[in-house]
Formats: sequence, structure tokens, C-alpha cells
Amino acid sequence: MRATFMYGAGDVRVIDVPDPVITEPTDALVRVVLACICGSDLHPYHSMARTPEGSSMGHEFVGVVEDTGRDVATVRKGDLVIAPFAWSDGTCEFCREGLQTSCRHGGFWNSGGSGGGQAEAVRVPFADGTLVAAPVPENSPLIPSLLTLSDVYGTGYHAAIKANVNPATTVTVIGDGAVGLMAVLSAKRLGAERIILMGRHTDRTDLGREFGATDVVAERGDEGIATVRELTGGNGSHVVLEAVGHLPAYQQAIGVVRPGGVISRVGVPQYQDAPVGIASLFGPNITLTGGPAPVRAYIETLLPDILDGRVEPGKVFDREVGLDGVPDGYQAMDARKALKVAVRP
Ligand SMILES: [Zn+2]
Ligand SMILES: [Zn+2]
Repeated sequence: MRATFMYGAGDVRVIDVPDPVITEPTDALVRVVLACICGSDLHPYHSMARTPEGSSMGHEFVGVVEDTGRDVATVRKGDLVIAPFAWSDGTCEFCREGLQTSCRHGGFWNSGGSGGGQAEAVRVPFADGTLVAAPVPENSPLIPSLLTLSDVYGTGYHAAIKANVNPATTVTVIGDGAVGLMAVLSAKRLGAERIILMGRHTDRTDLGREFGATDVVAERGDEGIATVRELTGGNGSHVVLEAVGHLPAYQQAIGVVRPGGVISRVGVPQYQDAPVGIASLFGPNITLTGGPAPVRAYIETLLPDILDGRVEPGKVFDREVGLDGVPDGYQAMDARKALKVAVRP
């Protein structure tokens, strides 16, 4: 089959690899219907050291079950399934607590022997714990929205849940990428009435308004901080959902959060050290939370609104490519010419 590999920064290739096969009785074999490129795929695209064997790419996909191992009970051949960006056994203490990204036996698609989702097919470990079947055909117009449950919608929702967003909280979202926009949609779902989106790409912030943002702040740094504080009566925002991952975004979060408030980070931090001392978090009693979202825990919660057409998170996909177009897709997202690229093998 054809699959996407990265061999170093900027070097993405679609190559022929052996077809995946069932190796464990708990595996499922999934033919990919729709996958996509993630903002987090751009981090190695910028910085990955060259490696001759390459790294299998893609961690978001929706597909059809082609085969299952003998112990798989919850999905069967022909099911349309959503795969979260991490696989998990569904049975360990962390899975039962809804923290599947810390599963004792779990892992990520690009590591641990399972191939990535930017491919024609994937071997899915622990199919019962990992996959969620959705009652739609593979040609359904809902597929792009279902694909957001693999990562970006669940990740934005996780940010909002960890920050305890509710109708009484003013929410500021930093970042107008797909996760930032999903954080807006999630804050709206949890009842927030004031949602300030910090981003400077008008086409994206327009979509953010459609998803529920009440204010858009295009300025960054001190200027952006001053504008948000002004919009919040000088106090700052109860909740800041940080969906970028670079240090300036974290500093911006500290700048706009209200004393006693919460900063919830879901942008993968590209920094090792950041201020947590008196002037940043301690003095104003700020809670810092967030982490890799256990999106598996949220799929059943978020699915019904998609199936009923009440939300259309799939609008974040503004380009679709075939597998051969994946390298161009990376380029387009890196150049900010595409918000999020869907891949139809
Ligand atoms: Zn992702
Ligand atoms: Zn587990």
C-alpha cells in the first residue's frame, strides 16, 4: 500500500510499504476513508533530524474495518470507525478514568510499531479500547466532521473541560488554527457567553465567529494583551485556552488571564522552560492545566451533535488532497495557505 513518511525537516514522501496485517487478537485492520495533516505534524516538518528509515506520518483518520482479530468485540468488518490520535486498551486504570493518553499499554500511531494514518490502511492495536463506530456510510458528508473527533475537536474540548468553562466564564482562545477554532466551538458548547479569539488570519477568525467567538483580537504581544484586558473591563479573562504551543503564546496567556483564572494549554509546547513564579502564576493565583487530550474520552460526548447536524466542525478542512498530494498539503499548511488539509487515499 501507499503510506506517508517523513525523512527529515521538509522531506515528506509517499512510498510503497507492505500492507498492514493483524498481528494481535485485539487488532483491527482499518482501510482509511479520510485522514488529515495536523498542525503538530508541522513541528517535525520544521525540525526533524534526517533519518534514512523515515517516520510514518498521520494520527487522525476515519476508516472502514476490513478485518478484526479474534478477541475484538465492539467493532466488526464494515463498520465506519473513528480513530483517536492515540490508541489505548480501554481497560487500565487511566483509561477507566478517561485519561487514555496515559494508558498503561497505549501508544501513538507514529511509534510503537503501528503505522500512521496518512496511508491507505492502518493496523489498529486494542481495537475495542481505541475505535468508536459511527452509524454513517463512508460517503457521508459528515465524514470530515467525524474526522475532527480524531484530534482537533476533542483537543479543543479538552482545553475547555480542563479549564472548567461554563456560562459564567469569559474565555480567551489564543490561536486561530484548527485546535483554536475547535476550542471556540467547545467553549460555546459549554455555555460561555463571552469568547475572545486571538488570531490574525481573517478567513480563520471569521470561521471562529461562526463557531461562537464574540470578539476577535488580531494584535499580538503587549498590544494584544492590552486589547483583551480592555475588552474584559481591565480584569482579564477567567479562562485562557492556549492552542499554539510557542512561548510567546504562553506569555500572552499570562498577560490576559484574570487573577484567580485558569490557563489551559493544548498546543504542544515547543519550549522546555517557562515562567511559573511570583510575577507570572503564583502572585495572581493562576491555575495552569492542560496536556495531550484523551480525545477517546470525548468521542461519544461530541458525536451526537455532529450526527444531528447541530455543529459542523469539519468546516476547518479547507483543502483535500489524494495521497500523492500529501507533500503539497504539508507545504500549503506550513505556508498558511491551508488551514487544515484532508487526505483522501
Ligand atoms: Zn493532530
Ligand atoms: Zn489503558
